[in-house]
Amino acid sequence: MSNHIKKGNTVEIISGNDRGLRGTVQWVYPKKERVIISGINIVKKHQRPMRAGRTQVQPGVIEFEAPIHISNVMLVCPRCNQRTRVGFVQQEDGSKVRVCKRCGEVID
Ligand SMILES: [Zn+2]
Repeated sequence: MSNHIKKGNTVEIISGNDRGLRGTVQWVYPKKERVIISGINIVKKHQRPMRAGRTQVQPGVIEFEAPIHISNVMLVCPRCNQRTRVGFVQQEDGSKVRVCKRCGEVID
């Protein structure tokens, strides 16, 4: 079910603190059904000074995007610019392409 969203797509967040925001899919974890969206779900982690092998890890606050569940995002159609459900249409060669359920545009 997670193959309706792919790396590089623009998505809109539909729940949580970041609801209504949009971002680009940076990474997809298909098995976990989670995605990383640029600028969304930023978490701060306090890094203690420590040594990892020969490298000295600098102390401070690290900010990074945490994965969010794929059910919390919807694809934004590049044509109609609205968040949309995704349909699949089989082509003549047997491959499936994604289509916007609002305007019918092929997204792939
Ligand atoms: Zn559309």
